[in-house]
Amino acid sequence: MPAPPFPSPLDRPVQFLKGVGPKRAEMLARLDIRSARDLLYHVPRRYEDASTVLPINSAQAGMDVTLIGTVVSKGVIPTRKGLRVFQAVIRDDSGLIECSWPGQPFLDRSIERGDLLLVTGPVRIFNHRQVQPREFVNLGPADEGGAAGVVLPIYPATEGLSQRILRSILDANIDVLLQAVEPEEPFDIAELKRLGLSPLRASLEAMHRPASLADAERGRRRLAWEELFFLQLLHARTRHRATRERKGIAFTRTNELLRQLYRRLPFELTAAQQRAVAEILTDMTSPHRMNRLLQGDVGSGKTVVALFAMLLANESGFQAALMAPTEILAEQHYRTLARLLEGIPVQVVLLTGRLGAADRRAALAAIASGEAGVVVGTHALIQESVQFGRLGLAVVDEQHRFGVKQRMALAEMGDTAADGLGSPDLLVMSATPIPRSLALSLYGDLDFSILDERPPGRRPIRTVMRPQQKREKVYDFIREQVVAGRQAYLVYPLVEESEKIDLLAATAEYERLRADVFPELRLGLVHGQMPGEEKDSAMLAFVAGELDILVATTVIEVGIDVANATVMVIEHAERFGLSQLHQLRGRVGRGAEESWCILLSDADPATTERLRTLVRTEDGFEIARADLRIRGMGDFFGARQHGLPAFRFFDPEKDEDLLGRARDHARRLVEADPDLLEHARFREVLESRWQLRERMYDVG
Ligand code: ADP
Ligand code: MG
Repeated sequence: MPAPPFPSPLDRPVQFLKGVGPKRAEMLARLDIRSARDLLYHVPRRYEDASTVLPINSAQAGMDVTLIGTVVSKGVIPTRKGLRVFQAVIRDDSGLIECSWPGQPFLDRSIERGDLLLVTGPVRIFNHRQVQPREFVNLGPADEGGAAGVVLPIYPATEGLSQRILRSILDANIDVLLQAVEPEEPFDIAELKRLGLSPLRASLEAMHRPASLADAERGRRRLAWEELFFLQLLHARTRHRATRERKGIAFTRTNELLRQLYRRLPFELTAAQQRAVAEILTDMTSPHRMNRLLQGDVGSGKTVVALFAMLLANESGFQAALMAPTEILAEQHYRTLARLLEGIPVQVVLLTGRLGAADRRAALAAIASGEAGVVVGTHALIQESVQFGRLGLAVVDEQHRFGVKQRMALAEMGDTAADGLGSPDLLVMSATPIPRSLALSLYGDLDFSILDERPPGRRPIRTVMRPQQKREKVYDFIREQVVAGRQAYLVYPLVEESEKIDLLAATAEYERLRADVFPELRLGLVHGQMPGEEKDSAMLAFVAGELDILVATTVIEVGIDVANATVMVIEHAERFGLSQLHQLRGRVGRGAEESWCILLSDADPATTERLRTLVRTEDGFEIARADLRIRGMGDFFGARQHGLPAFRFFDPEKDEDLLGRARDHARRLVEADPDLLEHARFREVLESRWQLRERMYDVG
């Protein structure tokens, strides 16, 4: 695509716009507004209109209100305590009210008689009705337009750049900006119409100058669509490269091994497991590569589902590999699989960094010859020295612990495409349930199978909240459980920014617990900064029942399975996200005994309310939805670290329908035109406006 002959006027520095200049440009930069385009895309953070603004005479004591009125008088009043209070009386058609700003006498300089004020805050009665604004916007001289019957956009503002100035800058330039953005419309208008969305220009106009709140919302939806569509376009291209550009393997189902496994299983598959197995087997027997995510809560039974997939590979004459993020987890999987495969003629081999030289040589030989039907390991599997005879399926467990590159690397390891056999299928597994909206954004390149049901007969975990001063009681409870032969986890938060301090806290607490609280019990400590071997040996001692209490940071979140552990105590529970707490809780309740999760926290009512979600439900998907609602897209589950672009318009609660449509749309388009040759416009947007060029050509 040749560069356009003239750069768009939208690319000009904002300084050259009407009413800006160098000084204001500097202030605009603080809002990340540098170009004319940035200004155009600086959309209101909320709106006020007749539906949100109350007539002044309806404001009653005890209400929280938004009012608009003209300043009829104002002044600074000293109080008896020496505090200076700025007061202004505002009026609308219905009446008058006093607004009062204690301790802010300086407002006298920026608020004039005749200005139109929008104020939001509680109404109180002192001598008379009064509002103490929590927030206010000076809309400028009332006779310059006023606010009657209009929707007022409220912009993100900054010191020195009030609403009023921002609005005046936008007013002076908006027509020119909107005209300049018109040619940047990337979508076919007829197509947009079919989707019920408005064109770009109209949408931006609706956001800046809405005729109604619904109008502004329509504008936002369209801009959200654009964000979603281009992200999904990127995912669709990744998926295309992974699943279509290379020859896949069409596995042949003989049922020879599958039937044996089915017969030997000590339990019935849940309906969700059956559905997932069916989806996976169908995908594997098709000629294209599988690129699938198996999502399910801790304990939902993903391992067995993966084993069915692995045996299908085996009975078609291929090997399968399972990669886990830690040695302990790999060893656990190895034991589980070996047990499930007893009496079935499939050899399971373990490969981790811990193997001795002779064992390692034997494992490598079995992997290379193809004798090892199922290979379980850690990162050790993706080292160069490993040669697979005929890898057909790569399974990656707890995949969020691996980057995209690593998860693809295992499939690349055994790429037998050169032999004309095709490239291995990929199944990634995650025990971190995430809402569909987030899953589609993060993993739009994958297809999903979801285990939303738990095997029957599992006892619920009793979750309770306790204030910190009840700690002694909690210790007594732990002691009782240990005396009864159980084990317990005690977890401390480890927040990244203050990692060192927290680590000290966890270590000091461990010393205190060992010396003063539980001198008669056997305690161990694990944290992320420990050398791997020390960490593993503490964990293994706990697994072996040689420790009664494991004091830990969140490193135990993934990876250890001790049926005898029945108590999980989490200190400062308020410092963890809900999903993380849920993961931690999943470490108990794995055996026949009743299990407990105790959340220690002295928190404000809002936090307590948040934690109550955990007390109420054990459904990981429900917890994840609550977590997403509270923390937002960026923070949830470190989404940003996963390369998710910051969404400005997309709202996961309102736009889930758009997300699914954006994905289907993008996939269809890429299927028909993988290199976007017929869609130069989209290509251009991906490369320039979204600056996603690098990601476009990243791993495939
Ligand atoms: P996760 O999804 O956390 O990896 P696992 O695969 O480790 O879960 O399964 C958890 C436990 O549940 C295992 O002990 C497994 O044997 C058992 N399990 C799996 N599926 C079923 C089932 N359908 N009925 C009963 N128990 C099951
Ligand atoms: Mg698992």
